[in-house]
Amino acid sequence: MINISFAPLTKQGLTEADLAVIGAGPAGLTAAIYGARFGLKTVVLEKLAPGGQIATADLVENYPGFPEGISGGKLAELMEAQAKRFGTQIISDGLLSIKQVGAGGNFAIVTESGAEFSAGAVIIATGAEPKKLGIPGEAELAGRGVSYCAVCDGMLFRGKTVAVIGGGDSALSEAKYLASLASKVYLIHRRTEFRAQSYLTEQVRKLENLEFLLPYFPVEIKGGHKVEGMVLENRATHERKEIAVDGVFVYIGLVPNSQPFLELVDTDEGGFIITDDRMNTKTPGLFAAGDVRAKPLRQVSTAVGDGALAAQEAYEFLRGQDA
Ligand code: NAP
Repeated sequence: MINISFAPLTKQGLTEADLAVIGAGPAGLTAAIYGARFGLKTVVLEKLAPGGQIATADLVENYPGFPEGISGGKLAELMEAQAKRFGTQIISDGLLSIKQVGAGGNFAIVTESGAEFSAGAVIIATGAEPKKLGIPGEAELAGRGVSYCAVCDGMLFRGKTVAVIGGGDSALSEAKYLASLASKVYLIHRRTEFRAQSYLTEQVRKLENLEFLLPYFPVEIKGGHKVEGMVLENRATHERKEIAVDGVFVYIGLVPNSQPFLELVDTDEGGFIITDDRMNTKTPGLFAAGDVRAKPLRQVSTAVGDGALAAQEAYEFLRGQDA
């Protein structure tokens, strides 16, 4: 067991880390594994449980090394254990603010609980969170039938009728999972073609208790104390109809968690952080990795690659500072 220990980060004692990783999803945990193995004093800040988005995936079938697939929660657990084994310190706290002290200087980090520390290099691996539909009933019935996490809430709908909204990998894989619990699943997508991988689409097409409603988009989620139904509109004919459902699972894409870094990075029109192909943002010593980054493919495998490269670049950056 490798053990690298350093003073705890507290409100009172400002401690210095070589590398701070913000976010403990696959990109952040990989960056931490590499950073710690380079001998850097590595801290990971994570306000929720380690794993990020992947922790909410029922089954990850396309990450190499797991021919039968692996649950997202289990994969996250293994990555966390590996990062800790090499001496990474994982702090359960959110990021409140980050500033660079002088051009090319260290980063001053303040956490939500008020702890302060500085780091020579920072890797942003804050990922992304589910996009909301923004229709009447969604906010009002959130947690009372409206959900963004089938793994967390699916069991509540055993034997019931649910709707899944979206046509990407998330919607189709979670619809498949929900079809194993619910008596009936409606898959509602605004187009007749799917963005999801065809392998997944074909699997979902075979499910007997799943019905496609295409090309429909949701207009309203109805219910009193809990979800009772939805109003849908056909995108081609503009015909409206109402369906009775007990739950609505929304999988319509991601919003990047790039807000705290906007003064230090450039973003694309969707708010995703722009880096070069070595994960450098426009601020020297600040890198971005994983789903928060502007990139063509958001997968565990690409997050892992980003994290490794970002840590390598951070190491080179810190070595350059010492020279
Ligand atoms: P996504 O790929 O961006 O797909 C979002 C889907 O929601 C699209 O089908 C889109 O329709 C639809 N949509 C967007 N806004 C909408 C609105 N306002 N109303 C109705 N429908 C709307 O998002 P995702 O499925 O969450 O995936 C995010 C990333 O994670 C992707 O890169 C994906 O490949 C990756 N991922 C991979 C896996 C895997 O490999 N196992 C699993 C999950 C996620 P249009 O198609 O018409 O735009």
